[in-house]
Amino acid sequence: MSISIAIDGPAGAGKSTIAKRLAAKMNYIYVDTGAMYRAMAVYFTQNHVNPDDEREIDASVVNVDISIEYADGVQQVILNGDNVTAFLRTEETGRMASKTSKYASVRKKLVDLQRKIAKENNCVMDGRDIGTAVLPDAPVKIYLTASSDARAQRRFDELVAKGEQCDYQTIKEDIEQRDYQDMHREISPLCQAEDAVLVDSSDMNIEEVLQAITDIIEKKNARIATTKSGKTVILAESAGFCFGVERAVNTVYEQVDKENVYTYGPIIHNEEVVKDLESKGVRVIENAADFKNTENGTVIIRSHGVSKKVYDDLKNTGVEIIDATCPFVLKIHTIVREESEAGTQIVIIGNEKHPEVEGIMGWSVSPVHVVDTVEKAQNLALDLEKKVCIVSQTTFNYNKFQELVEIISKKGYNVSIRNTICNATEERQTEARKLAKRADAMIVVGGSSSSNTRKLYEICKNECNATFYIQTLNDLDLESLSKADCIGITAGASTPNNIIEEVYTNVRIKL
Ligand code: C5P
Repeated sequence: MSISIAIDGPAGAGKSTIAKRLAAKMNYIYVDTGAMYRAMAVYFTQNHVNPDDEREIDASVVNVDISIEYADGVQQVILNGDNVTAFLRTEETGRMASKTSKYASVRKKLVDLQRKIAKENNCVMDGRDIGTAVLPDAPVKIYLTASSDARAQRRFDELVAKGEQCDYQTIKEDIEQRDYQDMHREISPLCQAEDAVLVDSSDMNIEEVLQAITDIIEKKNARIATTKSGKTVILAESAGFCFGVERAVNTVYEQVDKENVYTYGPIIHNEEVVKDLESKGVRVIENAADFKNTENGTVIIRSHGVSKKVYDDLKNTGVEIIDATCPFVLKIHTIVREESEAGTQIVIIGNEKHPEVEGIMGWSVSPVHVVDTVEKAQNLALDLEKKVCIVSQTTFNYNKFQELVEIISKKGYNVSIRNTICNATEERQTEARKLAKRADAMIVVGGSSSSNTRKLYEICKNECNATFYIQTLNDLDLESLSKADCIGITAGASTPNNIIEEVYTNVRIKL
């Protein structure tokens, strides 16, 4: 399986200079897709095709054959048997390319060619729609841009250096006109792919841009490997500890030297971490009463948070409380407390038995309704006279949240919807879904009682039948991966990095 790096951005952002250098450095081929649109434009110009007449364009596209070759590593564009590379970089051809690249027939022909090249070669491909349309699965996507002033200045300097007559203002207007055309066309307009990394080169020189992009690629590449037998192994970027969990776990490790350290419930849903902390003397208590007989001590409230009652009970024992509740969960406590105090009915989209939801429920001054299925949403009967506020468990599946909210919203209540799903969860789920779609086998690593890991597993299983839920490397049957060409790995928010790394490394070296 080949690897592609997609670089998109507006004209004059420095894409081709950077892409060429990168490709040489990585020993990949450089594919300049703009040159293909330019070659098409040369054909239209040579054959007097009216760029404003789509039917004329469609009729002539069938007569165009474009292919690329490499001479000393430099891309050559062959148009109907002739090498037209030397004629592509004129302003006139650029304008014609920008005008005619909006047509479906032109794009289809060139996109098919670009995909074929990427399938057969490791490549750095630059253009306008590489990350969004041509290679949506490219593991590295860069959106390279710069202000129109910076781009116009570079173009002006370039032309002056060549001894050409030019006017800065005209160049700038031309660039802005092309930006507008490329960004506003109907098919595959220029835009930053959701998963592309933005690099603004306005105040950077070439070396700095190259370094910035190399850093991005290295970071990503540490997560993509080719095994001895040629399999691709991809570790999801969002796999593992989220901010809230990392903060809570670090908090406990910072306290381990003290006497009598407790966590209220296991600090995270991961047996390995809990076992390790136990070996360092950290004990788990399940309620405040467990604590009564202890004189001094510290209780750490985990990232899931606790109800107001638990908090008050702990306080009454005189114990030192360190609150490691995730700030995103604390925000939900505040919403629920304030809204319920104002007489609003609270609906939590989440799993009633999950400690986070139990904690959230405990901040409402009135009874709370918890919904996690379509059936429960349909059966929900609230007071029509009173307002309704819907919040969500932070790790709930975003699509399911929307589905349930939609059902409740149709019931005619005065509803305020507070999407309190945390971004990290949403990002992890989106990335897992995408990776599972691409992979032939997926490994989801996490504790058996971690609800967010289970949700990740369900999402992946939906896209990729060969999805395996493991707690540690010991649960992994490498044999089950033998038929897969591309193996994806992701992990829940409570899975420590060392466990993920162990799985990734073993899959990488043993297959
Ligand atoms: O990048 P370059 O200036 O050579 O591209 C010329 C024109 O080709 C662009 O203005 C754009 O309209 C079109 N193009 C495109 N999609 C690409 C690459 C270029 O539409 N992937």
